[in-house]
Amino acid sequence: MAEPDKPANVPQMAAAAAAGAAKTAGRSGRSTELPEHLKAYKGVWVFIEHDRGQVHTVSWELMGEARKLADKLGVDVSGVLLGGPADKLEDFAKEAYVYGADHCYIMRDPVLQGYRNEPYTKGLTDLVNQHQPEILLLGATTMGRDLAGSVATTLGTGLTADCTELNIDGRALAATRPTFGGSLLCTIMTLAYRPQMATMRPRTAPMPARDERRTGDIVTMALGMIETDIVTKLLEFIPDANRNTVNLAYADIIVTGGKGLKNADNFKLVWELAKVLGAEVGATRAVTQAGWCEAERQVGQTGKTVRPKLYIAAGVSGAIQHRVGMESSDIIVAINTDANAPIFDFAHHGIVGNALQVLPALTQAFATRLGKQIRKVA
Ligand SMILES: Cc1cc2nc3c(=O)[nH]c(=O)nc-3n(C[C@H](O)[C@H](O)[C@H](O)COP(=O)(O)OP(=O)(O)OC[C@H]3O[C@@H](n4cnc5c(N)ncnc54)[C@H](O)[C@@H]3O)c2cc1C
Repeated sequence: MAEPDKPANVPQMAAAAAAGAAKTAGRSGRSTELPEHLKAYKGVWVFIEHDRGQVHTVSWELMGEARKLADKLGVDVSGVLLGGPADKLEDFAKEAYVYGADHCYIMRDPVLQGYRNEPYTKGLTDLVNQHQPEILLLGATTMGRDLAGSVATTLGTGLTADCTELNIDGRALAATRPTFGGSLLCTIMTLAYRPQMATMRPRTAPMPARDERRTGDIVTMALGMIETDIVTKLLEFIPDANRNTVNLAYADIIVTGGKGLKNADNFKLVWELAKVLGAEVGATRAVTQAGWCEAERQVGQTGKTVRPKLYIAAGVSGAIQHRVGMESSDIIVAINTDANAPIFDFAHHGIVGNALQVLPALTQAFATRLGKQIRKVA
């Protein structure tokens, strides 16, 4: 694995080639020297994602990371807020200061009421071109992924998606993410383009501490776009009744079952322990693919990233693609028949044993201890 501070591989970002040779060091350029006109880019920005009056928590997690990066570079942190007349952007800005921002850029326009790619891409690229940040961070959410890609290609700069770690190497952003199907971590740097862009998944970084004394200033900018310029129309918002019912990413306790449980019937033992503990149920990809539980319960590289206080993994091998999604948990307890299973390399507590016996024993013990009834899962 690449050490984040000493990247083994420092590719130029191919996506940045769109900017053209005059503006950059060129597609195949290996020069680490920043072109003169890009040296003016300063500061770390966080795109603050909000929807229906709520800021997505990943924006504050990113604010904490941005603060650390900016302190290393000796620059300021700014939050970027785009929205419509009904959005409480100034209130969100106040929260941004509490989590570490020094400034907020606000762009308010009727066409920015509700997310659409076209006006948000124009708004964010205009702000970047006007104020020139060196780093721009977005959450790897549905909205963040959609917006980051179009902003990066419009600006002709590099974007490292789904990062698990952000650092500074020299003056460059060293963005680490899984590669080769999650079997390796690579650190990517955008050396000759600005801004350096990255997305990070919710729960990859911890929530920063709140400092209620912090305040900052607001810079406003107009969008300069009218409704008839925009192809996509937002007619109505219809929430998906089946979506987001599972709050895995922000659960305090998760009991996860793996393929070692053998079949869907045995997987009910995971639910029974989870109910006694007031926990969420997680699963490996092998389990969701077998149809033992819903896909949205999958933890790992292609599932959710979680960081609960307690993570109990039963019959889970601990493959790297699973590990990257849960290794930041405060306490990991693994139950596995194989004493050499990879999960024991990073679990805090290990039980070498048959999960079909250990899970009911734990359920019984916790029920007695917590004074709860065991509810059999049908
Ligand atoms: C591109 C890519 C992305 C992926 N993304 C993800 C992802 O997001 N999440 C994810 O989980 N996986 C992901 N995977 C799959 C991953 O590589 C593993 O195959 C998967 O995590 C294995 O699931 P498992 O541990 O449940 O099953 P197995 O690997 O089959 O492990 C079962 C474990 O149970 C143990 N066991 C057997 N019987 C018992 C028993 N009675 N009691 C206790 N223990 C027992 C065994 O010793 C073994 O360690 C991805 C793979 C690829 C290639």
